[in-house]
Amino acid sequence: MNEAILLVEDEKNLRITLGDRLRKEGYIVDFATDGVEGLEKATRLPFDLIILDVMLPRRNGFDVCRDIRNAGLATPIVLLTARTETVEKVLGLKLGADDYVTKPFDSMELLARIEALLRRAPMRTGQSLYQIGPLCVDTRRTTVTKEGKPVDLSAREFQLLRYFIEHAGRSLSRDQILKDVWGYEPDTFTRTVDVHVSSLRQKLEGDPKKPELILTVPGLGYKLQEQ
Ligand code: CA
Repeated sequence: MNEAILLVEDEKNLRITLGDRLRKEGYIVDFATDGVEGLEKATRLPFDLIILDVMLPRRNGFDVCRDIRNAGLATPIVLLTARTETVEKVLGLKLGADDYVTKPFDSMELLARIEALLRRAPMRTGQSLYQIGPLCVDTRRTTVTKEGKPVDLSAREFQLLRYFIEHAGRSLSRDQILKDVWGYEPDTFTRTVDVHVSSLRQKLEGDPKKPELILTVPGLGYKLQEQ
């Protein structure tokens, strides 16, 4: 399988040499040269992994990393940092990065870390095409069609739908959903889950008032109807 990697790096030479190295390993490589472009591509296109430089023009890698996570994307992220302070490495990981490599790095070391992360990523091994009633969901390409017509979902809506699919037929509490999809601690009172389920129903159900896909479990939460 050819995994797609986004390389966000402003140093042209490193972009070229690392890009070539990754392609030789069989990866599909796309590039961004600053933080703004990196965030834009990371949230619009499907990638299996993102290599993100920390010192970037327009927007630094830490901010981009946090924004990618805030957009609801769980794509593995490796930070490239020229800084050696432990504090900053920890900060990077707290913002949602999965690993980091300190520049200058050995490309073999980076490749090993990439492979390890891709092995860990659940989307890689799992099924990626799902037929649910009139819906066809491709979790790899992050696309949804309803009776053959594309449906526009936000990143978070897609993540929530994917979570339901992965737990089809199981009753899921609001707390559990909030914790797993948003990463929130469930002691905060919030209608976030209800709001997003309602918007998913609007987009996916034949009659959103009489849902047949995402069912309400009274007093608990929701479940996706098993097909
Ligand atoms: Ca840089």
